[in-house]
Amino acid sequence: MPELPEVETVRRGLALYVTGKRIKRLEILHPRATRSGSTISLKSVEGARITDVARRGKFLWFVLDRELALVGHLGMSGQMLIVPKNSELERHTRIRIDFGDKKLELRFIDQRTFGWMSAEPLRKQDEKYLPECCAHIAPDIFSEEFDKARVIGEIKRRKIEIKKALLNQEIMSGVGNIYADEALWYAKVHPERLSSSLSESELAEILRAVKKVMKSALKQGGTSFDDLYINVNGESGYFEVSLRAYGREDEPCRRCGALIRRINFANRSSHFCPVCQRARKSRKPAKKRG
Ligand SMILES: [Zn+2]
Repeated sequence: MPELPEVETVRRGLALYVTGKRIKRLEILHPRATRSGSTISLKSVEGARITDVARRGKFLWFVLDRELALVGHLGMSGQMLIVPKNSELERHTRIRIDFGDKKLELRFIDQRTFGWMSAEPLRKQDEKYLPECCAHIAPDIFSEEFDKARVIGEIKRRKIEIKKALLNQEIMSGVGNIYADEALWYAKVHPERLSSSLSESELAEILRAVKKVMKSALKQGGTSFDDLYINVNGESGYFEVSLRAYGREDEPCRRCGALIRRINFANRSSHFCPVCQRARKSRKPAKKRG
């Protein structure tokens, strides 16, 4: 499932190709191509010129020369590919966008249909214009608006498992199952520890780890765990070779050699080292009395 590094990789690839181009024609090939609840027709972006491609968390959007944005969410398996116009139409193609280019076009392909594209009005927030559907999404760790103290405060305030807090896109956006497991491994924190029980320095360490793992994934073009994620040119990421916890059940921890464990977590799973990432901090021996 695409997380921040994968979406950012797609954003960068798209920006190189689409910036400055005009949306000549947008063709909808599947009724579930757009966001449920969206009130503006996707076709209303036709004729608009794309001035930039922006991102917040896992949402990306085409900034247009009108008071609308064309937002895309890759969901579980969405891909945005720039392909030759005459290439065979993949079965799961939801949307095609023609930029008036003789050779290439953009195709939004989504096998599992959790992804979507949507035309969204803009809303001003903190001196920035955001598409309406992204207004509740918190800044991600690479964004200028990211406020570390606020995020640490919000995590501490909630009495939820730390992994759940990391996945909450209203606290901090962009982190999904893979990078949450990886960051907690680096920070040596058990995924089920209660967020309110963690110290500020432990939380700062976790945030440092989140940034570190996503940065190195970004360098390698994202993680391609189930072969569904590929970047804009159809090239897959290489980050999976560097994974420390995610998907490594029963393989030795690269720090201590203990076998990585997998436990159920919200219809998915968490991977962690039972030795490096203890469920509870070991208690200091009780003081002897008298
Ligand atoms: Zn270990």
